[in-house]
Amino acid sequence: MTIATADKRALVLEVHHRLSKIYGNQIKYFHDLDPLSELVSALLSHRTKNSNSGKAFDNLVDQFGSWEKVRDAPVEAVQEAITPCTWPEQKAPRIQQVLRIITELRGSLQLDFLADMDVAAARAWLEELPGVGPKTSAAVISFSLLRGKALPVDSHHFRVAVRLGIIEAKIGEARSHKVLEDLLPPGFTAQEVYDNHQVMMRHGQKVCFHYNPNCKECVLLDLCPTGKGILDKKAGKNH
Ligand code: SF4
Repeated sequence: MTIATADKRALVLEVHHRLSKIYGNQIKYFHDLDPLSELVSALLSHRTKNSNSGKAFDNLVDQFGSWEKVRDAPVEAVQEAITPCTWPEQKAPRIQQVLRIITELRGSLQLDFLADMDVAAARAWLEELPGVGPKTSAAVISFSLLRGKALPVDSHHFRVAVRLGIIEAKIGEARSHKVLEDLLPPGFTAQEVYDNHQVMMRHGQKVCFHYNPNCKECVLLDLCPTGKGILDKKAGKNH
Protein backbone atom coordinates (compact mmCIF):
# COMPACT_ATOMS: atom_id res chain seq x y z
CA MET A 1 0.00 0.00 0.00
CA THR A 2 1.34 3.45 -0.89
CA ILE A 3 1.32 6.04 1.89
CA ALA A 4 0.47 9.64 0.93
CA THR A 5 3.29 12.15 1.40
CA ALA A 6 1.44 14.07 4.15
CA ASP A 7 0.96 10.82 6.05
CA LYS A 8 4.62 9.97 5.54
CA ARG A 9 5.66 13.30 7.02
CA ALA A 10 3.48 12.60 10.06
CA LEU A 11 4.90 9.08 10.31
CA VAL A 12 8.51 10.32 10.09
CA LEU A 13 7.86 12.86 12.84
CA GLU A 14 6.13 10.34 15.10
CA VAL A 15 8.98 7.87 14.62
CA HIS A 16 11.49 10.63 15.38
CA HIS A 17 9.70 11.55 18.63
CA ARG A 18 9.37 7.97 19.82
CA LEU A 19 12.97 7.06 19.05
CA SER A 20 14.25 10.31 20.57
CA LYS A 21 12.66 9.29 23.86
CA ILE A 22 14.80 6.15 23.82
CA TYR A 23 18.05 7.26 22.22
CA GLY A 24 17.99 10.91 23.19
CA ASN A 25 17.98 14.28 21.50
CA GLN A 26 20.55 17.04 21.30
CA ILE A 27 22.87 14.08 20.73
CA LYS A 28 26.52 14.98 21.02
CA TYR A 29 28.33 15.14 17.70
CA PHE A 30 30.86 12.31 17.56
CA HIS A 31 33.51 14.28 15.63
CA ASP A 32 35.06 17.72 15.92
CA LEU A 33 36.90 17.62 12.63
CA ASP A 34 37.41 20.32 10.02
CA PRO A 35 35.53 19.54 6.77
CA LEU A 36 38.57 18.21 4.88
CA SER A 37 39.47 15.83 7.69
CA GLU A 38 35.84 14.73 7.85
CA LEU A 39 35.90 14.06 4.11
CA VAL A 40 38.98 11.82 4.47
CA SER A 41 37.33 10.09 7.43
CA ALA A 42 34.16 9.49 5.39
CA LEU A 43 36.12 8.11 2.43
CA LEU A 44 37.89 5.69 4.78
CA SER A 45 34.65 4.60 6.44
CA HIS A 46 32.95 3.15 3.38
CA ARG A 47 31.89 -0.43 4.26
CA THR A 48 34.24 -0.43 7.26
CA LYS A 49 33.57 -0.69 10.98
CA ASN A 50 33.93 2.69 12.70
CA SER A 51 36.70 1.37 14.96
CA ASN A 52 38.77 0.25 11.96
CA SER A 53 38.28 3.38 9.88
CA GLY A 54 39.11 5.38 13.03
CA LYS A 55 42.40 3.51 13.34
CA ALA A 56 43.20 4.14 9.67
CA PHE A 57 42.44 7.84 10.09
CA ASP A 58 44.64 8.08 13.20
CA ASN A 59 47.46 6.32 11.36
CA LEU A 60 47.33 8.92 8.59
CA VAL A 61 47.39 11.79 11.08
CA ASP A 62 50.18 10.26 13.19
CA GLN A 63 52.38 9.11 10.32
CA PHE A 64 52.03 12.04 7.92
CA GLY A 65 50.99 14.98 10.09
CA SER A 66 49.21 16.92 7.32
CA TRP A 67 46.88 16.23 4.39
CA GLU A 68 49.49 17.80 2.07
CA LYS A 69 51.94 15.09 3.13
CA VAL A 70 49.31 12.38 2.64
CA ARG A 71 48.61 13.81 -0.83
CA ASP A 72 52.28 13.80 -1.83
CA ALA A 73 53.36 10.51 -0.22
CA PRO A 74 54.04 7.34 -2.21
CA VAL A 75 50.68 5.60 -2.61
CA GLU A 76 52.12 2.42 -1.04
CA ALA A 77 52.85 4.33 2.19
CA VAL A 78 49.28 5.64 2.37
CA GLN A 79 47.93 2.19 1.58
CA GLU A 80 50.05 0.68 4.36
CA ALA A 81 48.82 3.29 6.86
CA ILE A 82 45.16 2.61 6.14
CA THR A 83 45.30 -1.20 6.19
CA PRO A 84 42.86 -1.38 9.14
CA CYS A 85 40.04 -0.37 6.77
CA THR A 86 38.57 -2.35 3.89
CA TRP A 87 40.04 -2.02 0.37
CA PRO A 88 43.12 0.07 1.28
CA GLU A 89 44.47 -0.55 -2.23
CA GLN A 90 41.47 1.32 -3.68
CA LYS A 91 41.01 3.91 -0.96
CA ALA A 92 44.65 5.12 -0.86
CA PRO A 93 44.81 6.25 -4.51
CA ARG A 94 41.25 7.62 -4.30
CA ILE A 95 42.04 9.74 -1.24
CA GLN A 96 45.23 11.07 -2.86
CA GLN A 97 43.32 11.83 -6.06
CA VAL A 98 40.66 13.76 -4.12
CA LEU A 99 43.32 15.71 -2.20
CA ARG A 100 45.07 16.61 -5.47
CA ILE A 101 41.82 17.73 -7.14
CA ILE A 102 40.87 19.95 -4.19
CA THR A 103 44.34 21.52 -4.31
CA GLU A 104 44.03 22.15 -8.05
CA LEU A 105 40.54 23.60 -7.80
CA ARG A 106 41.11 25.76 -4.72
CA GLY A 107 44.83 26.54 -4.80
CA SER A 108 45.18 25.13 -1.30
CA LEU A 109 44.17 22.02 0.55
CA GLN A 110 41.21 22.90 2.75
CA LEU A 111 37.43 22.90 2.57
CA ASP A 112 36.65 25.68 5.02
CA PHE A 113 35.20 27.75 2.15
CA LEU A 114 32.16 25.44 2.21
CA ALA A 115 30.98 27.34 5.29
CA ASP A 116 30.23 30.33 3.02
CA MET A 117 28.05 28.32 0.63
CA ASP A 118 24.48 27.21 1.17
CA VAL A 119 24.18 23.53 1.96
CA ALA A 120 22.79 22.47 -1.43
CA ALA A 121 25.65 24.21 -3.27
CA ALA A 122 28.26 22.83 -0.87
CA ARG A 123 26.93 19.30 -1.32
CA ALA A 124 26.85 19.68 -5.09
CA TRP A 125 30.48 20.88 -5.03
CA LEU A 126 31.55 17.91 -2.92
CA GLU A 127 29.65 15.43 -5.08
CA GLU A 128 31.68 16.50 -8.11
CA LEU A 129 34.69 14.87 -6.43
CA PRO A 130 35.39 11.24 -7.38
CA GLY A 131 33.90 8.73 -4.97
CA VAL A 132 31.77 11.31 -3.17
CA GLY A 133 28.04 10.61 -3.15
CA PRO A 134 25.14 11.93 -1.04
CA LYS A 135 26.14 10.00 2.08
CA THR A 136 29.68 11.39 2.09
CA SER A 137 28.61 14.94 1.27
CA ALA A 138 26.00 14.81 4.04
CA ALA A 139 28.61 13.48 6.47
CA VAL A 140 30.99 16.34 5.67
CA ILE A 141 28.27 18.96 6.07
CA SER A 142 26.72 17.47 9.21
CA PHE A 143 29.50 15.73 11.15
CA SER A 144 32.32 18.23 10.59
CA LEU A 145 32.66 21.53 12.39
CA LEU A 146 30.49 23.00 9.62
CA ARG A 147 27.61 21.48 11.65
CA GLY A 148 25.32 22.04 8.68
CA LYS A 149 21.86 20.68 8.01
CA ALA A 150 22.17 17.47 6.02
CA LEU A 151 20.88 13.95 6.65
CA PRO A 152 23.30 11.06 6.14
CA VAL A 153 21.52 7.73 5.61
CA ASP A 154 23.47 4.62 6.54
CA SER A 155 22.36 1.03 5.95
CA HIS A 156 20.62 0.76 9.37
CA HIS A 157 18.68 3.98 8.86
CA PHE A 158 17.71 2.89 5.35
CA ARG A 159 16.53 -0.54 6.52
CA VAL A 160 14.31 0.92 9.28
CA ALA A 161 12.78 3.45 6.87
CA VAL A 162 12.00 0.72 4.33
CA ARG A 163 10.44 -1.58 6.91
CA LEU A 164 8.24 1.24 8.18
CA GLY A 165 7.03 1.87 4.62
CA ILE A 166 8.50 5.40 4.52
CA ILE A 167 10.52 4.58 1.40
CA GLU A 168 10.70 1.68 -1.03
CA ALA A 169 13.83 -0.44 -1.02
CA LYS A 170 14.16 -0.09 -4.79
CA ILE A 171 15.13 3.59 -4.58
CA GLY A 172 18.43 2.57 -2.97
CA GLU A 173 20.49 4.28 -0.30
CA ALA A 174 21.90 7.06 -2.49
CA ARG A 175 18.51 8.36 -3.69
CA SER A 176 16.94 7.86 -0.27
CA HIS A 177 18.95 10.79 1.12
CA LYS A 178 16.90 13.47 -0.59
CA VAL A 179 13.58 11.66 -0.09
CA LEU A 180 14.11 11.12 3.64
CA GLU A 181 15.49 14.60 4.26
CA ASP A 182 12.55 16.18 2.41
CA LEU A 183 10.13 14.32 4.69
CA LEU A 184 11.61 15.92 7.81
CA PRO A 185 9.93 19.11 9.06
CA PRO A 186 11.48 22.07 7.16
CA GLY A 187 11.90 23.85 10.50
CA PHE A 188 14.17 21.14 11.90
CA THR A 189 17.51 22.54 12.98
CA ALA A 190 20.82 20.98 11.94
CA GLN A 191 20.98 19.36 15.38
CA GLU A 192 17.50 17.85 14.96
CA VAL A 193 18.42 16.48 11.54
CA TYR A 194 21.57 14.98 13.08
CA ASP A 195 19.45 13.54 15.89
CA ASN A 196 17.16 11.94 13.30
CA HIS A 197 20.15 10.30 11.63
CA GLN A 198 21.41 9.06 14.99
CA VAL A 199 18.14 7.67 16.35
CA MET A 200 17.24 5.87 13.12
CA MET A 201 20.73 4.37 12.92
CA ARG A 202 20.72 3.33 16.58
CA HIS A 203 17.32 1.70 16.23
CA GLY A 204 18.62 -0.35 13.32
CA GLN A 205 21.68 -1.36 15.35
CA LYS A 206 19.86 -2.19 18.59
CA VAL A 207 16.36 -3.42 17.67
CA CYS A 208 15.56 -3.53 13.96
CA PHE A 209 18.37 -5.95 13.13
CA HIS A 210 19.06 -7.03 9.58
CA TYR A 211 18.19 -10.61 10.57
CA ASN A 212 15.54 -11.32 13.21
CA PRO A 213 14.44 -7.79 14.11
CA ASN A 214 13.15 -7.61 17.67
CA CYS A 215 9.65 -6.49 16.66
CA LYS A 216 8.01 -7.69 19.85
CA GLU A 217 9.99 -5.15 21.87
CA CYS A 218 9.88 -2.39 19.26
CA VAL A 219 8.20 0.91 20.15
CA LEU A 220 7.33 1.36 16.47
CA LEU A 221 5.42 -1.91 16.08
CA ASP A 222 1.96 -0.34 15.80
CA LEU A 223 3.29 1.89 12.97
CA CYS A 224 5.19 -0.82 11.13
CA PRO A 225 3.67 -3.04 8.44
CA THR A 226 6.78 -5.21 8.31
CA GLY A 227 6.84 -5.83 12.05
CA LYS A 228 3.14 -6.67 12.13
CA GLY A 229 3.63 -9.06 9.22
CA ILE A 230 6.55 -10.76 10.95
CA LEU A 231 4.62 -11.24 14.20
CA ASP A 232 1.46 -12.41 12.40
CA LYS A 233 3.53 -14.99 10.56
CA LYS A 234 5.12 -16.21 13.78
CA ALA A 235 1.71 -16.40 15.50
CA GLY A 236 0.32 -18.36 12.54
CA LYS A 237 3.19 -20.81 12.73
CA ASN A 238 2.59 -21.41 16.43
CA HIS A 239 -1.12 -22.23 15.97
S1 SF4 B 1 8.49 -3.40 14.25
FE1 SF4 B 1 10.17 -4.74 13.64
S2 SF4 B 1 10.56 -4.33 11.48
FE2 SF4 B 1 9.33 -2.62 12.29
S3 SF4 B 1 10.83 -1.07 12.91
FE3 SF4 B 1 10.38 -2.31 14.71
S4 SF4 B 1 11.96 -3.91 14.72
FE4 SF4 B 1 11.93 -3.00 12.67
